[in-house]
Amino acid sequence: MTITRLTFSGAGIERLAELRQLPEALAAVFAETETRFLPVWQSRCLVRDGHAADCGREELELLATGHEAMVFLGRRGGRALFAVELRGEAPPAGLPSSGFLGLREIASQVSEDDAALLAYARAMILWQERHRHCGVCGAPNRAVEGGFVMVCSDPGCAQRCFPRIDPAVIVLVHRGEQCLLGRQANWPEGRFSTIAGFVEPGESLEEAVSREVREETNVAVTDARYVASQPWPFPSALMLGFHATAQGSDIRLNDGELIEARWLTRADIAARRVLLPPPISIAFRLIESWFDQVPGPRLASLATDWTSGGPLRV
Ligand SMILES: [Zn+2]
Repeated sequence: MTITRLTFSGAGIERLAELRQLPEALAAVFAETETRFLPVWQSRCLVRDGHAADCGREELELLATGHEAMVFLGRRGGRALFAVELRGEAPPAGLPSSGFLGLREIASQVSEDDAALLAYARAMILWQERHRHCGVCGAPNRAVEGGFVMVCSDPGCAQRCFPRIDPAVIVLVHRGEQCLLGRQANWPEGRFSTIAGFVEPGESLEEAVSREVREETNVAVTDARYVASQPWPFPSALMLGFHATAQGSDIRLNDGELIEARWLTRADIAARRVLLPPPISIAFRLIESWFDQVPGPRLASLATDWTSGGPLRV
């Protein structure tokens, strides 16, 4: 049931958090000739020749018509890396043809290391963009500590806020030879996936698993077991993946989030009676880790694309 690496994790970067509180040391790192900059424009990251495009200082000056946010990401391969937000309605001039891409496109075009790095850069810039003002008094915030703290500019308030992550549980519910998958109205036709939802204040992850499955399908679960986690930067979720055992099989769609839910056997899935979520998602990997628990063909060996091709009739 072990899931190894998941997309958008494992950037291979040494974050060096201790430098964030040392302005002089950070300025020295910024000034190093080898320091590179990852531009983020309108929540998109620059990709060049199938790699995360990191610009030198001179290139950054050419691209940038003015940049606001800057975040010290850490070091990779000895080089310091900063994320830089580029402002403006149009893409910066002088870009290579590959240009700025969204994270889903990026995940299919660059290495896993680079996809994780760009997801990290974009998440930090997006967080700064969305916290320009103090949530307590409304005064403008300014970034400090390498961009990891936004502090209120009113000295009488001085409220500090920190990068936000939204925890969400995602769960593969099983019962004997069957697993429980649901379908949302806005998904591609025929696609089914695991049950998921945000953790609410005042509940544990296990309680969130139980509540979400009950709300969406009316199925009671026990034995929620943590499997793996995945940063899901759309915009800032952290998906916490579980397997859980169902106590009953009666499905009732309680909260309207799903338009359909089904019990599916391994044979149903192998026969492609439903389409599955993209392989970059922890949802797919949770299904795969359950499917592969019994002897027989591995899920990955049965098809190269589980997301299209049209489901067979049930
Ligand atoms: Zn304030």
